[in-house]
Amino acid sequence: MAGLGGAMPSAGFAYASWEKFRFNPPPSRQQLEALAAVIGVEGDRLVQMLPPAGVGMKMEPIRLCGACYAQSPCHKIEWQFKTATGCDRHRLRLLSECPNCGARFKIPALWVDEWCQRCFLKFEEMTKYQKLTQ
Ligand SMILES: [Zn+2]
Ligand SMILES: [Zn+2]
Repeated sequence: MAGLGGAMPSAGFAYASWEKFRFNPPPSRQQLEALAAVIGVEGDRLVQMLPPAGVGMKMEPIRLCGACYAQSPCHKIEWQFKTATGCDRHRLRLLSECPNCGARFKIPALWVDEWCQRCFLKFEEMTKYQKLTQ
């Protein structure tokens, strides 16, 4: 799946935005494996995406930037950083539930449809509900 690191133009940006966070305490291997299952990537691949010191992350709730999703339809791991409240790229607050009906997002590994599973609002259309971070 595209978008989770790899050879993309945004890889440099993604890494830079990771570095801004304080990685304390580092996640255990077990936590990483659990996260990898949620995001839908292999554990080893996920480890490669993390800075060496590890990262503080929250698996719940699943967050989303609709504007990012419109450009690259996949979940981005930086949305789950404990300290993440907004999307640096779009200066928009992240959504942690559907802005239309309030349903929580399914885990990204199950994001087959690109819309809310309850009201069918498309992820990319949620962008207009996102508030600016500043
Ligand atoms: Zn975004
Ligand atoms: Zn909904």
